[in-house]
Amino acid sequence: MSFMDIARFLVVKKLCSCDKQLEAIYRYIKGESPSTIEKELKVDRKLVKALIYRIYELGGSNYQLSLQHARDIIPIIIKYVEPIVAQNWDKAVCKLCKNEYEHLYIQFHMRRNHMDYVDYEVKRVLRLYRLENG
Ligand SMILES: [Zn+2]
Repeated sequence: MSFMDIARFLVVKKLCSCDKQLEAIYRYIKGESPSTIEKELKVDRKLVKALIYRIYELGGSNYQLSLQHARDIIPIIIKYVEPIVAQNWDKAVCKLCKNEYEHLYIQFHMRRNHMDYVDYEVKRVLRLYRLENG
């Protein structure tokens, strides 16, 4: 459990084209209410809370620091990480291996089959974060 795990969790979201979830997390941490987020981004408020709880768990249960870390790196992830999954209406297509998966399964697929790529992107994000924050 560490900040590296939080970064990996968030990078996988972006690789899988879940940009709205990242934005929802970011806006929640900035203080917006889950109902506003649900209305504007169409991300279910229960999902927003579940995502926040997951970040808290991954960060070793230090609530403030975990959320701060997520808040710091989400803008970098949104700006610099390119999705490698096309979310079509019926299936998610992985551009690395050209296979199709159920939507619910694609993040699991990333972790299981493309962990090297995920970690490469995580390290790049953390490097960019350090560059921008001296
Ligand atoms: Zn794949």
